[in-house]
Amino acid sequence: MATFPHFGTDAIHAGQDCKQWKSKAVIPGIFLSTTYQQDVPGQPDLYEYTRGGNPTRTVLQSCVAALENAKHGLVAASGLAATSMVLQMLSAGDHIVSVNDVYGGTNRFFRKVLSKYNIECSLVDATNAENVEKAITDKTKVVWVESSTNPTLQCIDIQAVANTVHKHKDVILVVDNTFMTPYFLRPLDLGADVVLHSATKYLNGHTDVLMGVLCTNSDSIADKLTFYQYAVGAVPSPFDCYMVNRGLKTLHVRMRMHQENAMAVAKFLETSPHVVKVLYPGLPSHPTHEVAKRQCKGYSGMVSFVLKGDLSNVTKFSQSTKVFILAESLGGYESLIDVPSVMTHASVPAEEREQLGIKDTLVRLSVGLEECGDLVEDLRQALEAASSA
Ligand SMILES: *Cc1c(COP(=O)(O)O)cnc(C)c1O
Repeated sequence: MATFPHFGTDAIHAGQDCKQWKSKAVIPGIFLSTTYQQDVPGQPDLYEYTRGGNPTRTVLQSCVAALENAKHGLVAASGLAATSMVLQMLSAGDHIVSVNDVYGGTNRFFRKVLSKYNIECSLVDATNAENVEKAITDKTKVVWVESSTNPTLQCIDIQAVANTVHKHKDVILVVDNTFMTPYFLRPLDLGADVVLHSATKYLNGHTDVLMGVLCTNSDSIADKLTFYQYAVGAVPSPFDCYMVNRGLKTLHVRMRMHQENAMAVAKFLETSPHVVKVLYPGLPSHPTHEVAKRQCKGYSGMVSFVLKGDLSNVTKFSQSTKVFILAESLGGYESLIDVPSVMTHASVPAEEREQLGIKDTLVRLSVGLEECGDLVEDLRQALEAASSA
């Protein structure tokens, strides 16, 4: 649970009061030991074996739980390991309802892994809670949405979906909050049962660790997740836990600047003659701007846009930037360009891409923390270069 009145103080102090360890070290330690001494056989004190628990992991888990205002926080070896941990709660024959433009790796997990256990998934446009209601059957156990989808950045009304889900007994709502982060949105406060993160993105923020996070207020869900964390074993290393905990210390500062830069980039792109359309939830022109404005404290750092021309113009654009780097992933301090149709979303069948608005000329930017003027100038000259491709 949040312990201080403000987010940034929790990011820095929650779970790491140095009085709790003998050394009084201000910065938590990295405990690499895989096992722990017992005084009496079979009666371990705090820890027994690191797959089950580790002091460095505990510090991080307490901190992420505070940031999501959750009773429980758990970490996994990657975002997809966290996805796998939640979905271990399902049994053969169960059913999932998911937002249609769900993260590609999650979609692949539904289609290629869970289908082997006869667990089916219905994909719906979750920007309208009625579509979720219609898709729920008596086999449904999980409704899966994202705080902002990818790459069109549609914001889903979490409260409306939670109300719909909770009309059905034994159905839980999982929200992948990777894109918004708890700084801008806390889905548990709006009725979600589980929040998931790819901490690989904004939470760590430095593009050097893979990790997943799960948070919940439910003791019974936490018990199950803790069991699967131990029993399945997709846990992160103590060193990675240390790194993500360190990354969290600046989450609030980074998110403010990601958003400031993203807003400036989005506004600039809207004025460019080389751009057909800009998708940023912070702009009144975005289809889900009103939902975003009502439920989020900000709009985060992802901006998508449609470039004039065809894939050759997009290619030229992506090769003409000097600050933005052409690479997958997002949420780090460095600005990145993604061309979803041939990169992150290439595995989505062409007609599905068309339906989801993922044109060949759609570009996704992860707007980083470089100086804003340099970012805008970089885009300006690259757009200019691309127009003559
Ligand atoms: C990257 C990502 C994931 C998967 O996380 P990994 O850490 O890469 O396993 C899940 N959901 C979203 C929204 C993501 O962006």
